[in-house]
This record gives sequence, structure tokens and C-alpha cells, in this order.
Amino acid sequence: MGIEESLPSGFALTTVELLAGAARKSSMFPAVFGLACCAMEVMATGGAKHDLSRWGMEYWRGPRQADLMIVSGRVSQKMAPVLRRVYDQMPNPKWVISMGVCASSGGMFNNYAVVQGVDHIVPVDIYLPGCPPRPQMLMDAVVKLHEQIGCEALGVNRAEAARAAEETALRA
Ligand code: SF4
Repeated sequence: MGIEESLPSGFALTTVELLAGAARKSSMFPAVFGLACCAMEVMATGGAKHDLSRWGMEYWRGPRQADLMIVSGRVSQKMAPVLRRVYDQMPNPKWVISMGVCASSGGMFNNYAVVQGVDHIVPVDIYLPGCPPRPQMLMDAVVKLHEQIGCEALGVNRAEAARAAEETALRA
């Protein structure tokens, strides 16, 4: 059935939240932040074959124009403050995908030099398994994140909420 038949009055009604969600998820800009071998798969995902631009993600931006951080690779202790600074420079609302087992848990690098999970540094929305995850898996994560963003409430400061949750967890 065409949209004209389903909407005989010519009006489409929605909520402001759904409208904002549709706008947000249709124009995400990932920040440039490759850390290790997983970043090769991120580059492949942005290339002509897989083409992330199909979802309105017109390639990578600096942190101040980005709203998605894809943490692709193990996070060294030295890089952790830099990663946090990049995250803090991104305007709200913003989202994080932890790509690969190294970013999510340290992976095979179970040692003092590597952060054992990027969620110690920034709040993570989607964890992506694999070593490395294939471009198709990253695209699937992006689509799932879009679904999540499409029904998120407005006016919630997600960074503040994550900080409060961190403090509560530390006190427990
Ligand atoms: Fe490299 Fe595998 Fe770690 Fe990704 S998960 S950074 S591919 S070792």
C-alpha cells in the first residue's frame, strides 16, 4: 500500500523523539580513531565495497564533528588518556562501539601495558566480538546502534548518566 493510501489526510504524525532519533541515526559521523589491526577492518568497512556511507555516515571526522567512536584495537595505558580526551571533545549525544576482543576485554594482551576493556575509560554502547570482526559485523553493529538511537529519549545526558553509574559502581 502506498503512503498516500495509508495517510489519506496527507498528514504524518510522529513524536519529537522519533523524529530526532531518525535524524540522529541517519547522520552519524564516526571519529577517526584507529588503534591496532582492527582498524584495517574499519577502513575496509568505509571503502567502496562495503560503503558505510549507505547509512549516512559520510566518512570520518575530527572529534568535534563526530558523534560515534569506534574503538578498533587494544588500548594501551599510554593511549587511554588520549582516547578519553577525544571522547570528551565529541559533542553530545555520542556513542561508542568497542570493536574486537582487545578493545572489549584486553583480549590476548592480558598484561600491565594494556587496558583490560575500554569501558574502564569511556561508556560503551555496543561490544563487538571477534579478532578481528569482519566488516559485515561492524555494519551489523552500526545497524543495531541505529535501532537503539531511533528510540532513545531526548534530554538525557548520556555522559552524565554513565558517570553517575560509574560512581555508584565504585562506591558499591
Ligand atoms: Fe588485532 Fe585481533 Fe586485537 Fe583486533 S581483536 S586489535 S585484530 S589482535
